[in-house]
Amino acid sequence: MVGTIGKQTKVVHGACPHDCPDTCSMLVTVQDGRAIKVEGNPDHPFTQGTLCGKVSDYLDRVYSQQRVLYPMRRVGAKGSGEFERISWDTALNEITSCFQQTIAEYGAEAIMPCSYLGHEGLLNGLTVGDAFFNRLGATVTERTMCISCTSTAYLMTYGPTHGTDPDTFRHSKYIILWGCNALSTNVHLWPFIQDSRFAQFKNGRANKDDEIKSQ
Ligand code: SF4
Repeated sequence: MVGTIGKQTKVVHGACPHDCPDTCSMLVTVQDGRAIKVEGNPDHPFTQGTLCGKVSDYLDRVYSQQRVLYPMRRVGAKGSGEFERISWDTALNEITSCFQQTIAEYGAEAIMPCSYLGHEGLLNGLTVGDAFFNRLGATVTERTMCISCTSTAYLMTYGPTHGTDPDTFRHSKYIILWGCNALSTNVHLWPFIQDSRFAQFKNGRANKDDEIKSQ
């Protein structure tokens, strides 16, 4: 909690949970136990108060009627979208009995947890159920489902570097955004790019023909 607005209202610090390196700093206003506003934290030095379009309407998703809040069992054909709500005890018992049957028949390694970041990020994406599945003796999943190819391509193209520190963009005379729409997909980099262009003009190190080249 960072402050109190009224008797039952408080502002809570949060961070975006998505699989996006920015991990935006968020301020969530909670009134009587219900979140009523989500906004970026203007005091954060990198994300600077901006949440992207995926998260600025987070309340609509958190309180959506379509959220799955209870165990559901499929009762129709796959893809038919027919489910029935079941209790937590029923769900746990069914999963336990499937696990026990599989272990008795094939051994614990026949169970393979399949999880990775998906839309989850640094805060909650890499440890889903590890302790449980390790204790069970299940197969250990090497979580390379979607990142191995991109990491390899990145290393082969740029070498072993994490890229350019955004804070150093202001020292660049030219910036080429190649095959990338930063305003859509890297929104927090934009202020640093603007800062660079203005810094160049201010310092007289660029002439009026210099521009940010974007393609
Ligand atoms: S840019 Fe969007 S998805 Fe990425 S951390 Fe910020 S709010 Fe989350």
